[in-house]
Amino acid sequence: MADRAQGQVSQGQTPEGQMPDVLVVGAGFAGMYAVHRFRSQGLSVKALEAGSDVGGTWYWNRYPGARCDVPSLEYSYGFSAELEQEWDWPEVFSAQADILRYANHVADKFDLRRDMQFDTRVVAVEWLDDAHRWRLTTEAGERFEAPFCVMATGCLSIPITPSVPGAADFRGEVYHTGMWPKEPVDLAGKRVGIIGTGSSGVQAIPELARQAAHLTVFQRTPVYTVPANRKRMRPDVQQEFREHYREIREMQQNNQGGVSTFRPRKSVRREARVDTTNAPPTRLLDLTSEQRRDAIDRFGLGALLAFRDVYSDARANEIANELYRDTVRTMVRDPDTAERLLPKTYGLGCKRQVIDRDYYDTFNRDNVTLVDLVETPVDTVDATGVRTSARHYELDVLVYATGFDAMTGALLRANIRGRGGRKLADKWRDGPVAYLGLQMAGFPNLFTVTGPGSPSVLCNMLVAIEQHVNWIGNCIGWLRANGARTIEPREESETGWIAHVNEVAEGTMFTAPTCNSWYLGANVPGKARIFMPYVGGYPRYRARCEREAAHRYEGFALG
Ligand code: NAP
Repeated sequence: MADRAQGQVSQGQTPEGQMPDVLVVGAGFAGMYAVHRFRSQGLSVKALEAGSDVGGTWYWNRYPGARCDVPSLEYSYGFSAELEQEWDWPEVFSAQADILRYANHVADKFDLRRDMQFDTRVVAVEWLDDAHRWRLTTEAGERFEAPFCVMATGCLSIPITPSVPGAADFRGEVYHTGMWPKEPVDLAGKRVGIIGTGSSGVQAIPELARQAAHLTVFQRTPVYTVPANRKRMRPDVQQEFREHYREIREMQQNNQGGVSTFRPRKSVRREARVDTTNAPPTRLLDLTSEQRRDAIDRFGLGALLAFRDVYSDARANEIANELYRDTVRTMVRDPDTAERLLPKTYGLGCKRQVIDRDYYDTFNRDNVTLVDLVETPVDTVDATGVRTSARHYELDVLVYATGFDAMTGALLRANIRGRGGRKLADKWRDGPVAYLGLQMAGFPNLFTVTGPGSPSVLCNMLVAIEQHVNWIGNCIGWLRANGARTIEPREESETGWIAHVNEVAEGTMFTAPTCNSWYLGANVPGKARIFMPYVGGYPRYRARCEREAAHRYEGFALG
């Protein structure tokens, strides 16, 4: 370790003591699969991970209530039939602890840790022009070099904490949902405050309210949230999935969001099946107001999400927003609190849909207070709590559920420098520019898994990750087989792709003028406003990537 601290080039430390073929940054689901995939095609690989173990998002986000909003039978790897057959999911939508257990099982089963180094934060990623390889430097000063570098750093991995005056003076405990401690946090008898009501806040709030003596929720923007499916996994349903997994994985490949439309037939009781002959129309505008209300009475707030025009037609969107607000007014007992919880400044579909368990009911509890930061903004944090323009709130614990520097944050923080020492930060000054979210011109042999401009966060992440890693693995294999040393996109491919990414996002609720989301970078002060993920659908995107591979990477320059 002493040598490493002095910054000696350790050249990768593969079992043979050679420089690896590929360096991977990150050991979340993307880095884990990358290690396995590259290894199975005969490449040597080394992954560097800042955390102490595998799991990425599911390693860091341990806050009470954390769970996934994609069904676990689908939010799971498809590369190993054996893995699909042996792993039991306890719930339909799994909690963080179960997903992390799964990640650990995968790491054990495929012996992934052998090629991983933990507690290792990469602080510089630099292309060596003459040597034609990447040099990675860690926080401890250790250096690694390899001809290929894969950034598997995640889309939501850099937590942000707003700079509130006096925040450092707070003498109580401070947590961020995205960096929750591994050790249990005891909130019993404590006065807890939470800032932020996005997906993380909405999941944490009901749990914190159950555990704390009192919970104060500091809300700036109210959220649209719909109740989660909270079913236990039925063994016969899981079995039916297992019997159809190949078909399900195929369906994922052809679905806009990478989630199959498979519905168990054998295991679901006849009376529980949805009668498709009476299925509601797919357009909200085609329904009478009585029918719209009836849909919510029967299926809950989530019914609003089933209508396609809610996402594409401003009139339908506003009708849905109003129905949503009317329904919340019936769920929260105190009318003033209910009114403050209603989103009014933007529409459904602008942000990532939030899914909750008991969110609105939590505000009916005696030990929960809602503070509207638009009415009464935070003045300062001091030693004992938070002072708004109206009053002081005494707190023992302050939780930030204030989100992430999404999509670009982890890449920019890695201090990436390409050909001629050009900084990625300079290239991306006005927003991320990349081809297919996979590579950047001027940064040869550097790949990003689920990078900006790819479906990434708009897709089932496990599906998006496997597609990217497979594409990268095939690309490296092809380069080797065809005697090419380097690959990077042509500038015109990049500009053409970005124009297409913008074009398909235009006119959707994601980019409505009233919308301010992390998809647009709007949650980070000073960040360029640009819609980062690809909204044109996973199958279309995948076809485009496959075309590149089939046409000898014609959109790329080879060296
Ligand atoms: P987020 O959606 O960005 O929400 C951050 C929250 O913090 C917002 O309510 C925001 O208010 C508030 N906030 C930020 N700065 C503030 C300030 N200075 N003062 C007051 N409030 C402030 O972040 P997130 O909740 O962590 O979720 C991020 C993404 O992670 C999700 O969209 C989702 O993709 C993923 N995620 C998924 C799950 C799941 O699978 N169920 C769970 C958690 C997270 P404003 O809106 O006013 O900025």
